[in-house]
Amino acid sequence: MKIVTSYQKLLHSHSIRDGHPVFQGWNYTDSELKQWFTQISTQQMLDTAQTYLNEVEAIVNRVEAYFETTLPGELVLIPSMGDIDGFARYDRGHHTVMLGIDFPDASIEYLRALTAHELSHVYRDHSPAVWGFLGKPLGQVTRDEYLEATTGREHLISEGLATLASQAIYPEFPVHDHHYYDLDEMNWCFSNDVKINEALERCVKESDPDPWKFYRPGLVAKGSPSRTHYYWAAKRIQNWIQSTHGMTLLKAHALPADEIRAF
Ligand SMILES: [Zn+2]
Repeated sequence: MKIVTSYQKLLHSHSIRDGHPVFQGWNYTDSELKQWFTQISTQQMLDTAQTYLNEVEAIVNRVEAYFETTLPGELVLIPSMGDIDGFARYDRGHHTVMLGIDFPDASIEYLRALTAHELSHVYRDHSPAVWGFLGKPLGQVTRDEYLEATTGREHLISEGLATLASQAIYPEFPVHDHHYYDLDEMNWCFSNDVKINEALERCVKESDPDPWKFYRPGLVAKGSPSRTHYYWAAKRIQNWIQSTHGMTLLKAHALPADEIRAF
């Protein structure tokens, strides 16, 4: 995968024009960029970004070794501007992963796990069988068609697999790092497993499931964190892999959502 270090250029020039076209399209101004680097960024944020820049090649190599392939597309490293963490953007067989590497409170462990997570989406999205039902080569699938074809079930499968891939690639990190939770949020999920299961079971039984609503904190019950659907899907897919003869996490990544009978 090609690594594009927009962050470095923008840090020195404070000029949006030096950013990747996707970043340019988000309409930040030069003065907002300058303010971000000179007034809002803390030393800790600048240091974490620098550590990541020094490591990024090794991180991508580790992820690609896990997937046993060179991943297509580009990984674009940008200032987070306080908003952007990780975002994998598909268009006509090409992938652009935008990664804000100076997110406030981000640690290097968080960025490693996030990279593994986003690149798992890239691997899955470039596995032809996943989108086989569209009946055309991936290079002809536009961004709009891709978004239209991403059902609630595919979203759950894809996020569950990405959470598991992050754990498989960085098993030395505590589990809450792979869910982007603090310890309290992770423990909330462990203690309220039954409530999470009931809410997601109800969701997937609907005729057109909407798991995206689980990005909202407090949806499952008072105090529930965001993204409980990642936690739920990862757990269910893990159980399915373990109970399915010959199945592995890598093989599951390349299967259409309907063939992963985890829920
Ligand atoms: Zn994801």
